[in-house]
Amino acid sequence: MCFDHPATYARMGLEMTLTAPLAAGIDIGGGSAKIGLVSSAGTMVEQFQVKIPPSQNGTEILLAFLSQLKAKLAAHTEGRLSGLGIGVPGYVDQDHTTTFKSNVPAIDDLDIRGLAETELDCPVFIENDAIFAAVGEQALGSGKGVSRFLMITLGTGLGTGFVEDGVPILTGNGAMGDAGHLIVDPSLEHGCRQGCFGCVESVASGEALNRRIEEVLAADRAGHLPDIVSSGSRPTVRDLIAGVRAGDPACVRIMDETSHWLAMWITGLTHMFAPQMIAFGGGWSAAGQGYVDEIATKSRHMGLPYYFEDLQFVQAELGNSAGIMGAAITALRQTKEMENGTVLSG
Ligand SMILES: [Zn+2]
Repeated sequence: MCFDHPATYARMGLEMTLTAPLAAGIDIGGGSAKIGLVSSAGTMVEQFQVKIPPSQNGTEILLAFLSQLKAKLAAHTEGRLSGLGIGVPGYVDQDHTTTFKSNVPAIDDLDIRGLAETELDCPVFIENDAIFAAVGEQALGSGKGVSRFLMITLGTGLGTGFVEDGVPILTGNGAMGDAGHLIVDPSLEHGCRQGCFGCVESVASGEALNRRIEEVLAADRAGHLPDIVSSGSRPTVRDLIAGVRAGDPACVRIMDETSHWLAMWITGLTHMFAPQMIAFGGGWSAAGQGYVDEIATKSRHMGLPYYFEDLQFVQAELGNSAGIMGAAITALRQTKEMENGTVLSG
């Protein structure tokens, strides 16, 4: 297939030199980078994590990742790669060379692609991390064989990526715009960390759940969450989810209200993108398939029936490897190194 994308990827001069069978993916997060070596058949050969150094110098930070990658590579492919994908936690510029307004400000506006291509002597492809997660999950996880695939990442924020026939759809800022900031709450009571009011992140993200936990602790002296404080810990979103399983009324109420907000948002996204599958990943997708089903039931109730007739709501399968896989697969697809067409065709 052809990766029908901004001009970024037409880098034929570099492709001419490629013979190495491995590609690599780097998924840069808030505190660390997850890095993996992926075979041309789409299997993870090696995966490791590098903490982001406490430097304010973006070049130093990127070189810390690249030097570790080169050290691992030496054992596999005589130090050579067919291509590298780098997922960044922020916007991506038009030429896919850098990121801006990211969760790791030190790397903002750095020529990431230029630096990485010089260090590794292979083509480098940069995308937003949620987009790469969607690409990976579609190709090798829950979305195998699905032509219209929507990935939702339930984390501190709410990530989205839509993949059509193996190609990610980008609507703005090198991502799916800011789909996590569609406005759903008419009260506009809460602002999100990015600065808008009433968006779905303001009421239904990991950040919003932490606010709800604090509200419960301020109001209630008994219950699952106050009991955790009594035992000397601070409750987390995972404790909130455990509270639902234990039948705690406050926890059940919060997660029920959250599923309502998520369903409003996802119904809107469904009407816009007409996915055949929606997969939920990220830290608090640990709430499980039962919670995904709850969101699905509410969405079906709200939405246009036609869009939901064959729509599947599932849990993502690749966990925190999805972003690495999507990055590496993109590099493989772009450098035409796949051994067969199964992954290439999405
Ligand atoms: Zn917002």
